[in-house]
Amino acid sequence: MTELTGILTIDLGAVAANWAAIRARHAEAGGVETGAAVKADAYGLGAGQVAPALAAAGCRQFFVAHVAEGTEVRAAIGPGPMIAVLNGFRPGDDEDAGLTPVLNSPGDIAAWSGTGRDVLLHLDTGMARLGLSPAELDRLAEDPSPLRGVNLRYVMTHLACADDPSHEMNAGQAARFAAARARLPAAPFSFANSSGIFLGRDFASDLARPGCALYGINPTPGHPNPMRPVVSLAAPVLQVREVPAGTAVGYGASWVASRPSRIATVAVGYADGYLRALSGRALGWHNGEDVPLIGRVSMDLSTFDVTDHPAIAPGSMIELIGPDNTADDVGARAGTIGYEVLTALGRRYRRSYVNAA
Ligand SMILES: *Cc1c(COP(=O)(O)O)cnc(C)c1O
Repeated sequence: MTELTGILTIDLGAVAANWAAIRARHAEAGGVETGAAVKADAYGLGAGQVAPALAAAGCRQFFVAHVAEGTEVRAAIGPGPMIAVLNGFRPGDDEDAGLTPVLNSPGDIAAWSGTGRDVLLHLDTGMARLGLSPAELDRLAEDPSPLRGVNLRYVMTHLACADDPSHEMNAGQAARFAAARARLPAAPFSFANSSGIFLGRDFASDLARPGCALYGINPTPGHPNPMRPVVSLAAPVLQVREVPAGTAVGYGASWVASRPSRIATVAVGYADGYLRALSGRALGWHNGEDVPLIGRVSMDLSTFDVTDHPAIAPGSMIELIGPDNTADDVGARAGTIGYEVLTALGRRYRRSYVNAA
């Protein structure tokens, strides 16, 4: 029977293998534990399936951005592992949902002081985004008493440029983080994201926080991807039509056939997270051959020039993301990054989770 929606296949065995490989890499660099960033629905792949696969592989520390995400992960993995909420709590959030707040400001510290609860403390060492600023750290170092009433599980910071090993920010952040920790009460610390784990011993810590690498994104851009592929997305061909030279295809008539052509229309569009910026730029794959996307990506449909692929017919599947055409590749063609390609993946796909432990 012909498929009418795209099929998104997520290899949970590859996620678990990637986590184990990243953990080994962090341990080699001198690191202690390795957690997992499962924010944004595990980078679009489905936290309800991905988090239990990681827990089964041995992961004991999870990171989400929002309380609601943490609640979903908790329901999926059950009690025990830490689930840290990077963006923190707001008044009214359920403080008894079994989640661990990341304290990002003096106000956050004051709000949790004296509760005796587990917390993480985030220091800004070079992103000017979240976490205590250098001046706020100075004040806390002078008077650390607000921290006495909480259980400081980890002091953390986040790297701005870890995907570029030659960037001077990396060593600067490592030095600022070490200096800051020396001024605070002793506590375990959490440092590297995926790319940071590949930067070596100065970036190892008590708890690494990899995300993208677990999902198959290359944590070492410019070098071969050491991770196993996790995601494949295939789109069904709904119709194929023969058009004469001069025929315009799609919105804006942005592509016009220069020869008699066969046009395949597939059931994936920008509402599925197949970014409109891919218009005229993406490649699909079929039986190991690339097939050019032509014209505009529309909301629910995209078009491919299959003139040179006579085997493609209604019901054929064109691979949009896969080992030949990774999320990183698709991101590059859209002028963005693999992270955005994955987190944009839509709700309309038939999702197939394979190789669970
Ligand atoms: C998203 C995030 C991570 C994971 O980063 P990756 O580059 O996906 O490995 C780690 N720490 C923090 C604070 C994050 O926001």
